[in-house]
Amino acid sequence: MAAAGDPFVDAGMWLRCALHAHTTRSDGELEPDELVRHYEAAEFDVLAITDHWIRTEADSTDRLLVIPSSELSCRLPDEADGHLLAFGIDEDPLEFVRARPDLAAAAAWVDEHGGVAYLAHPYWTGVSPGGLSLGDGVAGLEVYNAGCELETGRGLSTVHWDDLLERGLHCFGIAADDSHHGDLDSRFAWVWARVAERSQAAVLQALATGSFYSSTGPVVHELRVDDGAVEVRCSPCRRVTLCTRRQRGSSVSAGPSGYRHRGEILSESDAGEITAARLQIPPRVPFGRLELVDEYGRKAWTNPLWQ
Ligand SMILES: [Zn+2]
Ligand SMILES: [Zn+2]
Repeated sequence: MAAAGDPFVDAGMWLRCALHAHTTRSDGELEPDELVRHYEAAEFDVLAITDHWIRTEADSTDRLLVIPSSELSCRLPDEADGHLLAFGIDEDPLEFVRARPDLAAAAAWVDEHGGVAYLAHPYWTGVSPGGLSLGDGVAGLEVYNAGCELETGRGLSTVHWDDLLERGLHCFGIAADDSHHGDLDSRFAWVWARVAERSQAAVLQALATGSFYSSTGPVVHELRVDDGAVEVRCSPCRRVTLCTRRQRGSSVSAGPSGYRHRGEILSESDAGEITAARLQIPPRVPFGRLELVDEYGRKAWTNPLWQ
């Protein structure tokens, strides 16, 4: 795995990325060019089209960079079904059409074909957190899948993510729509990638190194780690939490009875919501990642800030 990137330190620009969407080439309702126009109108900068077992190409536009990608099926521990997102692969995954290779074999193929692999929706899939392992070839997992949340309430996979991090495994978390129905199930979840330039190579590099954060709404303006604390500036939020190992962490909540645990609010909006906070890092924690929640319950997730 490449050296970890830090989107809040690295020079460059932010690109809003839709990383999981289907077209009529698999089980989606929009044609590829319709999907491109749809995400461009929704003010995205990058679209990875991830049809099942097939690599879908579409022309990029002035605003929207299209990254041909796919969603492979694979086997996870205990024979659980897995889906593996294959971003930026250079040819069709023909040998995997309707096949279920094990996760390592699928990830190795993605790597051989210039792509970056992420495990999709582990909670929806049904793999138990304790038995899951990603291996070297998989950069991370979908911490949030909007389609799985809309359909079954199983879109959020933070337990899977934290279990991997607590076992010392390095992995990043993306949020994505998994859109199949255009307007109905899109624009809910995305990644803000920090890149030096607007190119497929730069976006893949950001995904491989974790130089991004994920969101369903909140925006992280600034973030730094120093002197045993994490300081963040953000769009107005109700709660900001530093998630670390089990039974640890720190958090601040907005409002007159707002709960504070090892943290302080540095600034608030006129409505009393958090726009800057400082959270203490508990002693001897192996990793730390930040979660933010706004007044509508929308969340943002940073990648591990250290590990
Ligand atoms: Zn899937
Ligand atoms: Zn999908």
